[in-house]
Amino acid sequence: MIIKDNLNKIKSKLPQHVTLVAVSKTKPVTDLMEAYNAGQRIFGENKIQEMVEKYETMPDDIEWHMIGHVQRNKVKYMAPFVRLIHGVDNLKLLKEINKQAKNNNRIIDCLFQIKIAEEDSKFGMSKKDASEIIQSIIFSELKNIRITGVMGMATFTDNVSKVKEEFEFLKSTFDSIKDVQKENFDLQIISMGMSGDYELAIACGSTMIRVGSSIFGDRNYK
Ligand SMILES: *Cc1c(COP(=O)(O)O)cnc(C)c1O
Repeated sequence: MIIKDNLNKIKSKLPQHVTLVAVSKTKPVTDLMEAYNAGQRIFGENKIQEMVEKYETMPDDIEWHMIGHVQRNKVKYMAPFVRLIHGVDNLKLLKEINKQAKNNNRIIDCLFQIKIAEEDSKFGMSKKDASEIIQSIIFSELKNIRITGVMGMATFTDNVSKVKEEFEFLKSTFDSIKDVQKENFDLQIISMGMSGDYELAIACGSTMIRVGSSIFGDRNYK
């Protein structure tokens, strides 16, 4: 019952315009089902293989979000069902997603992952990369993807003002590109905020938070 209580506690504090993605990576299906039975329908995973396995055993009305770094050669495995891919950070990947979406006769929603932290370990593109992709002719030809927002991961630090700056940077990036008119571009989502910083993220304009350990408990990577 702990998962249900955690979930309800978080949901009770969320503004209406903020969507909660329950980050269930490394957790067993029994844990996910506890969240499901408490009403949660959006789950985030960071490994394609693991997401496919859970998708195959869990109810059909779940929205599966890929929140991790995506390897191009694995896109095909999630293309039939993935609802939103958060970590798109290059055109080659976007082209592959478009190809696999087309093979499945669907349009896949994606977020541009923007690098907002200084740490080298964090993936993402610059604001300039993002606008160059959007303005390119190739982009306009990708009819089976739709860019619906931006995603970012702040530096892992206790320094609140630094994290705040990074969230504000993502919000300003969103604002600077959101008025671009393209058929496959409809910016609505700012995906930022995790267990440790989602309240700050919401204050900085987040519309989608990705929360794992505060719902499911600490992860064990053994
Ligand atoms: C694991 C993960 C999260 C959730 O992290 P918690 O601190 O457990 O809430 C959010 N976003 C991404 C991209 C992740 O990989």
